[in-house]
Amino acid sequence: MNNNIDKNVVPKAKNFIELEVDKDLANGRYKEVVTRFPPEPNGYLHIGHAKSILFNYGLAMEYNGRFNFRFDDTNPSKENEEYVDSIIEDVKWLGAKFDDVKYASNYFDKMYECAIILIKKGLAYVCDLTADQIKEYRGDYNTPGKESPYRNRSVEENLILFEDMKNGKYSDGEKVLRAKIDMSSTNINMRDPIIYRIARMTHHNTGDKWCIYPMYDFAHPLEDAIEGITHSCCTLEFEDHRPLYEWVVNNCDFKNPPRQIEFAKLYLTNVVTGKRYIRQLVEQGIVDGWDDPRLVTIAALRRRGYTKEAIKMFVDLVGISKSQSSCDYEMLEYCIREDLKLKCKRMFAILDPIKLIIENYPEGQIEEMSVPYNTENESLGSRKVKFSRELYIERDDFMIDPPNKYYRLFIGNEVRLMGAYFIKATRYETDNDGNVTTVYATYDPETKQDGRTIDRKVKGTIHYVEGTTAKKAIIRLYDNLIDEEKGKLNDDGSLNLNPNSLIIKEGYIEEELSNAKPYDRFQFVRAGYFSVDPKDSKEGAPVFNRIVSMKSSFKLPK
Ligand code: ATP
Ligand code: MG
Repeated sequence: MNNNIDKNVVPKAKNFIELEVDKDLANGRYKEVVTRFPPEPNGYLHIGHAKSILFNYGLAMEYNGRFNFRFDDTNPSKENEEYVDSIIEDVKWLGAKFDDVKYASNYFDKMYECAIILIKKGLAYVCDLTADQIKEYRGDYNTPGKESPYRNRSVEENLILFEDMKNGKYSDGEKVLRAKIDMSSTNINMRDPIIYRIARMTHHNTGDKWCIYPMYDFAHPLEDAIEGITHSCCTLEFEDHRPLYEWVVNNCDFKNPPRQIEFAKLYLTNVVTGKRYIRQLVEQGIVDGWDDPRLVTIAALRRRGYTKEAIKMFVDLVGISKSQSSCDYEMLEYCIREDLKLKCKRMFAILDPIKLIIENYPEGQIEEMSVPYNTENESLGSRKVKFSRELYIERDDFMIDPPNKYYRLFIGNEVRLMGAYFIKATRYETDNDGNVTTVYATYDPETKQDGRTIDRKVKGTIHYVEGTTAKKAIIRLYDNLIDEEKGKLNDDGSLNLNPNSLIIKEGYIEEELSNAKPYDRFQFVRAGYFSVDPKDSKEGAPVFNRIVSMKSSFKLPK
């Protein structure tokens, strides 16, 4: 056992949901903990869903309980198979384990039976009011609702009408089934909510078997109860629906019904979460699909090179709370840097190249310098970096008129070429626009590093790639999709997009990097962490996505 780690383990304070679970187990309300993640297959999952998945899964595991993964597929109008497949892939990738994929639509028969139970108890009725009338009769916070003239239909009549609804006797919208609760409740959700509607839609699972579909507020508690869920953890917007949730499970005669507990949604600043907005970006072609690396869908984060470990760390740092707040994107970046810091090889890549010619170095000669892959993690070993008379260096590693405290290359200044020699710049050439194209320098043969330590010190160290063996590569840099300064939305409600959210560089990489495979991750010295794009890369020609830059102003809150 590693004592260092043990000493640092601080017992984590339990969050408010864990405290509730403790109580429920202590007073015998439940004997085990069963949680679930119930996405609607109407889009791709995003970082907010990752919080819900990891939280619900983690809670079940913490109490040696069970975790269910279930599609809440009761509204066929917005659902499709592409979403189902992507959601399964994402949940698996995040590491949540489940026995089988469950579908709410498999419970349609049982839900229908529950509606019959309510009708027989005099707790549900068929209503002929139009959608507009129902809305008008419902009233609002200040006006009590008005009872529907159909509210006191007999049980027998309701049973016949509901069966006729199921058998397709009425057209879409002609009748609905409503729960008979309380038209004067201060909670509008309790004013005789609709629980079944007529809609002729083909369902991805049940086809055309049904022309009536249960409403979310009726279906969801039943799904939980049918599966024996104990703790149905959802986000805060459902708090007002909890009385209805309880009404449904209590009146449909479940023995040990689940309880709903709400927690705050995860919001990130300057980032588009919310399926509705992401769909808008995808459909308008502003991004390259649901997995465009600028998005925070789980598919996008994975494609960009995020690890599940970093996402888990982020979700744990954010924690579970009851009050809504938004969290800085930089915190997510902090997590991926922490995760990759020791795992990744540190390689040389030049994103914006200029030539460096070492005039006193023999023409045609190539040396190989031993350079460690990661100075903080010796176990990664070292590699041979090629070195010759002609190299590529970063454009901003040379300046014609350097400001104070610029320690990199300028005429007359000496710097270290990482792992190789000290060089001094002597002259430079520019193109017609005055941009530097080539820098000339001389090297000091006495300063050959090649894995050794050199006593003489210089202030600046720069990296390079050898000119004749370097490979060209596409390197993509990303920035926020949303323009931070001006806020998320324009006056007309459209998204305020950042025109520079994607910058494509054609740079040079060390030869070894050209064999990188999709999802391989590296640190490119000074530029950040990069990962090989799984869609656009070809064998021998990887395309690199920047996961995150090296710079950070983020400090972990104490
Ligand atoms: P969105 O509002 O982004 O479209 P949704 O709530 O409609 O998401 P669902 O498929 O209904 O998406 O969500 C499945 C589960 O994920 C629900 O339990 C929901 O509460 C939870 N969830 C959704 N968004 C977030 C979020 N931002 N933070 C935490 N949990 C979330
Ligand atoms: Mg939803």
